Amino acid sequence: MLKGFQNAAELDFSLAVNKEAMERAFQQVDAEKGAVYPLIIGGERIFTDKKITSVAPSTKEVLGYSSSCDQELADRAIRTAHEAFQTWRLTPVEERVRCVRRLVSLLEENRFILDAWNMEESGKNWGEADGELCEALDFFNSYSMHMEELDKGLELMPTEEYTKCIYIPIGVGIAIPPWNFPLSIFAGMVIGALVTGNTIVCKPSSETPIVAYKFIELCEKAGFPAGTVNFIPGSGSVIGDFIVKHPLTRFINFTGSKEVGLRISRMAAEVSPGQKWIKRVVAEMGGKNAIIVDSTADIQKAASGVASAAFFFQGQKCSACSRALVMSDVYEEFVEAVAACAKDLQSKQGSGRSNAPVGPVIGKAAYDSIVEYVEIGRKEGTVVAGGTYDDSQGYYIAPTVIRDVSRTARIANEEIFGPVLAVIKVESFDEALEIANDTEYGLTGSVYSENRENIQKAKKDFHVGNLYINRKSTGAVVLQHPFGGFNMSGTDAKTGTADYLRNFLNLKSICEDLK
Ligand code: NAP
Repeated sequence: MLKGFQNAAELDFSLAVNKEAMERAFQQVDAEKGAVYPLIIGGERIFTDKKITSVAPSTKEVLGYSSSCDQELADRAIRTAHEAFQTWRLTPVEERVRCVRRLVSLLEENRFILDAWNMEESGKNWGEADGELCEALDFFNSYSMHMEELDKGLELMPTEEYTKCIYIPIGVGIAIPPWNFPLSIFAGMVIGALVTGNTIVCKPSSETPIVAYKFIELCEKAGFPAGTVNFIPGSGSVIGDFIVKHPLTRFINFTGSKEVGLRISRMAAEVSPGQKWIKRVVAEMGGKNAIIVDSTADIQKAASGVASAAFFFQGQKCSACSRALVMSDVYEEFVEAVAACAKDLQSKQGSGRSNAPVGPVIGKAAYDSIVEYVEIGRKEGTVVAGGTYDDSQGYYIAPTVIRDVSRTARIANEEIFGPVLAVIKVESFDEALEIANDTEYGLTGSVYSENRENIQKAKKDFHVGNLYINRKSTGAVVLQHPFGGFNMSGTDAKTGTADYLRNFLNLKSICEDLK
């Protein structure tokens, strides 16, 4: 089934040709700065008076302004998508897949400019932005491949009757992505809906509306008909409940915080007047991911893996490590090694555009919240690296390691979503596993160990959607490590798989007596 699928390869930026192309893309971004972007409903560009300002986290520079949708326009977008669904649902899978294949080419053609916008708007560095673009390509290729298979229907027992069991699309979806993967998570949501024959209304994160707009433009160029994909940036607090509760909304595909995910889940469960179905909700949410380091682990490898998972992209990945659970006999050696990694990264911190290994956090609200956790952590343990911050030129917080944290401390339990690592000392592997699982979340986890018994225990009892042994907890690759969390981390959607697409399909069983 996976025959023919290949993961996209990241660009090699050590090559002059790629470096120069990226520099040219930055120049193009600079020339486009300050532009005003419209909503797109049924192919029509609509500019509103109210605007969302997009600010570069690396420099605080204004990147542009997005029109902001109100409830009236949101209603129009959903009705437009509902109308478009009546024809798009009947469009053969081959035609839908053809649009996705054209989108693959368009993404490749526009690779540098998309990477450059991503770096400016989200603060990613070169490798991180291009890695994200590769993930988007992987989603497109995997969803096309899966849909072609699903289109064959379900295999049934032979009978004298004519029988068939086919997958059919379900209706209008709402895509609500976070800002931390403004291209890949968003694009995966959009294409997951379109390739299955549904139509979609997209409400991007207010932090990253420009990257989202650039992607929607390419969807239009790829040939998805007007109305199948609609774009309505707007504040979650102004239009969020409205679009979730709308009677024509059939499913909501959300990735973001637990608080918003649970709210959406609650709202979607209420039946609105005129609504004819039970809404489906895919909600992928936060994490409080732990890495266990036992006495047999390669400590340098473990420290470097924990530092990468905790500090790359400033700890702003849902899969990021925020708790290291370390056995007492290797504790001092580990703390010293991980603190050294953090200090080294701090010395190289800079803007995404300068390709620094670690950069800024996304914006003022995130900065304030993370700084508060750094100060809480200072009281809950001992800071051995970082603990400093500066928002004069951009939103920079040093990679921070806090040792001797108790398992009940706030920084050991609450999602910080920033570059702050709590190190907790444990006396046994069982204790480490018990603490790792003692959280409402269940997204990712890692174990560094050479002890087969401990590794087996983790495989059986470490309750996370994505478990890694002797490697970091971040960096899931499409169809190598299907991604989705347990418990309050989400609905375990496992992006990139055929299971993911089944969220947006009904299975219709047809039988005809031919006698
Ligand atoms: P967020 O604050 O929950 O926002 C996510 C999206 O929800 C944004 O588009 C936001 O719009 C929208 N929203 C806000 N209030 C809403 C409402 N009442 N109704 C409908 N939509 C609403 O999360 P974030 O700060 O963007 O992202 C960080 C979180 O995402 C972290 O918790 C992280 O762990 C999680 N995450 C999880 C995964 C995963 O796969 N499990 C992946 C990435 C991120 P506005 O921007 O307009 O507020």
